[in-house]
Amino acid sequence: MSRAFNFSPGPATLPEPVLRQAQAEMLEWNGVGASIVEVSHRGPEFIEVARQAEADLRTLMSIPDDYAVLFLQGGATAQQALMALNFAAPGQTVDYVVTGHWGKTAIKQARPYVDVNIAADSEAGGFRDIPARDDWRLSKDAAYVHYTANETIHGVEFRDIPQVDNAPLFADFSSSIAAEPLDVSRFGMIYAGAQKNLGPVGVTVVIVRRDLFERAGQPRADIFNYQSHANGDSMLNTPPTWNWYLAGLMFKWMLAEGGVTEFARRNARKAALLYDTIDGSGGFYRNEVAHAARSRMNVPFFLRDAALDAAFLKEAGTAGLISLKGHRVLGGMRASIYNAMPEEGVQALASFMRDFQSRYG
Ligand SMILES: *Cc1c(COP(=O)(O)O)cnc(C)c1O
Repeated sequence: MSRAFNFSPGPATLPEPVLRQAQAEMLEWNGVGASIVEVSHRGPEFIEVARQAEADLRTLMSIPDDYAVLFLQGGATAQQALMALNFAAPGQTVDYVVTGHWGKTAIKQARPYVDVNIAADSEAGGFRDIPARDDWRLSKDAAYVHYTANETIHGVEFRDIPQVDNAPLFADFSSSIAAEPLDVSRFGMIYAGAQKNLGPVGVTVVIVRRDLFERAGQPRADIFNYQSHANGDSMLNTPPTWNWYLAGLMFKWMLAEGGVTEFARRNARKAALLYDTIDGSGGFYRNEVAHAARSRMNVPFFLRDAALDAAFLKEAGTAGLISLKGHRVLGGMRASIYNAMPEEGVQALASFMRDFQSRYG
């Protein structure tokens, strides 16, 4: 069986050259006589892999020196609790802008530690748009303002960094990190589970402006302390070495392909093709997100006749297009088209959709 075009939302498709290199190095890495996943994280080999991955991510995302870059475990969800423990005083107010499912989980994780002010929330409208910035009710003394850059399930993406002046901006970039050039200096903290746009599940990237480490935060164990992780090069305990290594291969691949500027161009073309196919279908397919807030990474869509969903998924699978089933929260379909999804994959999906419509429409 050959590799399909895999539209999985995460864990998601990886570039074939990355998988091939990992395969080639699986039994024996770089002359050490063992796989990189079989040697100590404190040894010179892995230390160099870790250092190179951080350097490459800094280059890829133009991360300024006054930002720490951490490679942690626990996924994006753990960071949603840790940010409150590290950067807010007990019970302090924090502002959240909710534009989908993941904004809600962020609040759920923070709530035991802080006083959550929901500054804006688009749930009443079915999470189909981003609340206008003028309508946000931000607090005067919030510890931070949190938003989700790209809502992976609802397919809603901020296309601009919101301007907030009351507190540092914290953002969940799990499903859109490194999809385009980003001015990191606008943020206090950026975090992302790697399994959408950065590679393998099991490692989470946290980018923090170092001056935030001066905040006392809340009583917490050392293992939950971001500053300790920064001081210990993200090796307070055994890190997920395989995942970190694989993410490093992914960073190298993205740089070799032309970096975030090139991926921004490809991602724009991929998303435009898919949305044009949907919008040009005369209602056979539909996406309900306000145009200006449509995600370039996750494209949810519905068939006019949901009774055709099963046939759509089955025939797509036969055509080598897999993992298109929508999230159970929304139903319908979803095509996740991260950096590692080649343009040919999206072209194949668009032609399949037109062909399916011509047969069932
Ligand atoms: C997948 C996802 C999460 C959850 O990530 P985990 O690594 O499973 O904790 C959080 N936020 C966004 C935007 C996501 O896409």
